[in-house]
Amino acid sequence: MSSTTRPFIDVSSLVRKNILAMKPYSSARDEFKGEAEVFLDANENPYPSPFNRYPDPLQWKVKEKLSLVKKVNPKQIFLGNGSDEAIDLLIRAFCEPGKDSIIITEPTYGMYSVCAEVNAVDIKKTQLTPDFDLDLTTFTKTFDATTKILFLCSPNNPSGNLLSRDKIYQVLRKFYGIVVIDEAYIDFADSKSFIAELDQFPNLVVLQTFSKAWGLAGLRLGMAFASEYIISILNKIKYPYNVNIQTQELAVDALENAYRKDIWVDEILRQRDKLVRDLKGLKQVEKVFPSDANFVLARVKDAPSVYRYLMEEKIIVRDRSKVALCYNCLRITVGTPEENSKLIKALQAY
Ligand SMILES: *Cc1c(COP(=O)(O)O)cnc(C)c1O
Repeated sequence: MSSTTRPFIDVSSLVRKNILAMKPYSSARDEFKGEAEVFLDANENPYPSPFNRYPDPLQWKVKEKLSLVKKVNPKQIFLGNGSDEAIDLLIRAFCEPGKDSIIITEPTYGMYSVCAEVNAVDIKKTQLTPDFDLDLTTFTKTFDATTKILFLCSPNNPSGNLLSRDKIYQVLRKFYGIVVIDEAYIDFADSKSFIAELDQFPNLVVLQTFSKAWGLAGLRLGMAFASEYIISILNKIKYPYNVNIQTQELAVDALENAYRKDIWVDEILRQRDKLVRDLKGLKQVEKVFPSDANFVLARVKDAPSVYRYLMEEKIIVRDRSKVALCYNCLRITVGTPEENSKLIKALQAY
């Protein structure tokens, strides 16, 4: 991708003026850098409960490990309380309430809209094509000068597929705003992360999470990768101690033992293939959409009743039948072999 075809974009001109002007809260642990023996600066309890000290506000140990795994400069990493925190902070950094807007491509992850609504930021909705890929013509017609952020989800939730890489490049070159690519499911996809493109595109933000492949949804740890400049803006407006000590320690451990994640991913992908085959063999299943994630979207004869029936059988799936382009669709997470076969047996008995 040649950078000469990309229009010049001045990311700082997209940031809200009050955010550019403000001075961030400076915590005790922000100001002190170096080795010390006596900490009387933060009004902590001096007696050693395991957690009497505040955590590192910028989580450098985690970022050091993560930078090796993701092959990116630690200063290009933001860590938050789930990637949901990054979504909220991006909207608050770039979108003026009551004035600016974001674009989403439906059907997609729900939190982009929720965070926009909380912040009184307008939501421009476009639809993906019936096979859930980007539709560049309607997209180009929808955004205007108020549109600061485009949220793309690839692999997409709830459809499960990767968006076309070529179309994403076109958008990155055409859209004068921030392009967020939510890669929550990238570990399950046979495709390279857009992290490798950060140097080409100053308006790119890539989101990933410890909640899916890494098996740490309960910890609440999300990642954003972007230019040092965008990361510095997110750090400026986040809560000072947004990631707790235990989460930081467990994340370092997970990153040092990344093979555990790789083993899970391999097994989940094998189970996904089997689940797809089994679902396709059922008479009430009309279509199973291709998946690059750890779930599949399946169109059935009557999704709400299948959903209720499965619930009576104590099996919970996600009814997406009210969502754009997903009529009569259920979203099914790939479980253990035992869980998947319980699901299939229940559907055979339906
Ligand atoms: C699950 C998911 C996330 C993860 O959010 P966390 O807050 O990190 O748990 C983000 N984006 C999408 C599309 C998801 O499906």
